[in-house]
Amino acid sequence: MSAPLDPTKLKITTVGSRKTYPPNEELTFGKIMTDHMLVAEWDSETGWGTPEIKPYADFQMDPASYVFHYAFCCFEGQKAFVGEDDQVRIFRPDKNMARLNKSTSRIALPTVDPDVGVKLMREFVKIEKDVIPKGRGMSLYLRPTVIANNASLGVGVPTKALFYIIASPVGSYKASGPIRLKATDDAVRSWPGGTGDTKLGANYAPCVVPQQQAAKEGFMQNLWLFNGYLTEVGMMNFFLVFLNKETGKKEFTTAPLDGLILEGVTRMSILELARERLDPTEWEITERKVHITELIERSKKNEVLEAFGAGTAAIVSPVQEVCYHSESVVLPTAVDGGETTKLVRKWIQDIQYGVDVHPFAEVV
Ligand code: PMP
Repeated sequence: MSAPLDPTKLKITTVGSRKTYPPNEELTFGKIMTDHMLVAEWDSETGWGTPEIKPYADFQMDPASYVFHYAFCCFEGQKAFVGEDDQVRIFRPDKNMARLNKSTSRIALPTVDPDVGVKLMREFVKIEKDVIPKGRGMSLYLRPTVIANNASLGVGVPTKALFYIIASPVGSYKASGPIRLKATDDAVRSWPGGTGDTKLGANYAPCVVPQQQAAKEGFMQNLWLFNGYLTEVGMMNFFLVFLNKETGKKEFTTAPLDGLILEGVTRMSILELARERLDPTEWEITERKVHITELIERSKKNEVLEAFGAGTAAIVSPVQEVCYHSESVVLPTAVDGGETTKLVRKWIQDIQYGVDVHPFAEVV
């Protein structure tokens, strides 16, 4: 009998006294973890063990554990917020849980029952609610993770796994300002039939050297190309605002979900809100492939109004310039981004901080 993951069995052990947290302005992304973690063990024969919230601590693992050799690891990144009304909210936890399961399924790790996963996350956030930094831009970053921890050097289907959630209080990304991008075609982030549409740990390590290279050349991020088409920027989805001079309409566009793109929760939320809220007589909202030559040609005609990256960490990061070999596309971007970039940031933040009470933000 393989036991299901049972939230009614959740065992909670809290720390006696909490550690001291730095003031909001000194929080660096992901450096400090909260006092607790949630852990559930899985075994292919017996199923899920008792989920536990317990004091944050090291794992003890055999050096031959699958995760260390064959990259059986996938994760999520999402946030909880203290609203202006002092209520704690998690942004679209069901979407992250669904994506976690898409990732686990791709590498033969067990799936987490989505309702149970969200329930456990809510319990975990309740335990940590007092250490969520307050204020616009501040949040508790949540990192659900699944790894395989059976010990064997023979690669195959994992027989033991851990599902765990850790959390880190994080600050505002405001200081980062508009970014310069290197359109990268000498390394690719994803490819047809690959895993770029999942959040496997193995997708991330190979991006660091191209990022370092871009940084050496004075760029903040890579704009990842595939066969010349724009896919994503750094670890964010990429949005563009074009002006169609013939029709006078503006186009709000991002790459389609063709297997090369991670389906960002921020991306899907922005698209849903844009379709609901932007005036269709002025706007066309599309998910389509844009080639780097289209970007360059249309920028010469002053038809590229705005560009931004979108993701959980920064919500939106305005793009100032895209460089492709000797070509440069300069965007008329203010520090906070153009009009649409700012509008989109406000939509999402108002929901996250309970100013716009919306089903995307679930009260804990
Ligand atoms: N693309 C990649 C490659 C990412 O790692 C992320 C961050 N999860 C995103 C896009 C944005 O996704 P989300 O909006 O869910 O944070």
